[in-house]
Amino acid sequence: MLVLFKKNALPEDKEKFASFLKEHCFSPIGTEAYVSCGAGISEATLQEFTDFAAFGRIIDDSFYFSSRTFQEKNTLITIEKKANRVVFGGESIPFIGGPCSLESEEMALKAAENLKNCGVKLMRAMLFKPRTSPHSFQGLGLEGLSILKRLSQETSLILVSEPRDSEELEILAEYADIIQIGTRNMSNFQLLKSAASIGKPIILKRGMSSTLEEFLAAADYLLLWGQRNVILCERGIRTFNSYVRFTPDIAAIPELKELSHLPVIFDPSHASGKTSLVPSLALAGIAAGADGIMAEIHETPEKALSDGKQSLSFEELPNLLERAALVAKAVSRSLE
Ligand code: PEP
Ligand code: MN
Repeated sequence: MLVLFKKNALPEDKEKFASFLKEHCFSPIGTEAYVSCGAGISEATLQEFTDFAAFGRIIDDSFYFSSRTFQEKNTLITIEKKANRVVFGGESIPFIGGPCSLESEEMALKAAENLKNCGVKLMRAMLFKPRTSPHSFQGLGLEGLSILKRLSQETSLILVSEPRDSEELEILAEYADIIQIGTRNMSNFQLLKSAASIGKPIILKRGMSSTLEEFLAAADYLLLWGQRNVILCERGIRTFNSYVRFTPDIAAIPELKELSHLPVIFDPSHASGKTSLVPSLALAGIAAGADGIMAEIHETPEKALSDGKQSLSFEELPNLLERAALVAKAVSRSLE
């Protein structure tokens, strides 16, 4: 629960109300609001709020900090690394490419080279894979850390990597430029709190069965725990459709942008699970207003250790980028 001071409340009145709130486990957010620590609050205490001259109103929505009510203007997220600079949430549409998971040093360096040659500035650099089945490839894990380190030192690509828990988060924090929280961890609130506190921009993927309200409530955890640079990612949801792995919720893109000031990107690879659908969906995502695209690209998708069936090859990438740039232009934006 969030309690806002009355507009233009007197400082001495604010002070009185603030000390009452602190006694009930509230702490300040900025200068005009106090947020509950989550310990619960009785009806009687709520009644007492109205006795204070500085009491404004209670916000009891499941999300607030990610909403347009809290901030009308788009959040712009600028990420710089060496010569590369991208902005999420503005006129440009950054493209994030790369394999589902890093598989070897040679493969990773080649992928980085290929992406760079295509003008892509952001790379998926995943070591820890949250897989549905324990029998599937789990990522290189710690053994691959030296690869991530090399990528971070030797390329100017902005690296996105995903931890499955707080320990992996600490490890990745040193080399990744953007931390991804995957669909299976969207509701891992302890991980969200830890991720917010390490100070790196975060891509938060929508839980595969989450409503937009739940998604934005998860984003509120990140914002409340101190990370303002949050990028929402629509990645498909679970439905009765069986011709796709998940159902791309294209309407969620403009809807999220109406509800929230945060940038919204789209992942056509996990949303469809099918390589042949990825280009059309990427274009649809841009047309629907996405602030970025993240797609899986692999040198030899048929040999990929994970998600080969939804990966494009590097030969297919230039054509997609060309067409994506045209759609971006048609909606008065530019692909970068
Ligand atoms: C990924 O992007 O690597 C991933 C695992 O995606 P998701 O969490 O959307 O399944
Ligand atoms: Mn994948």
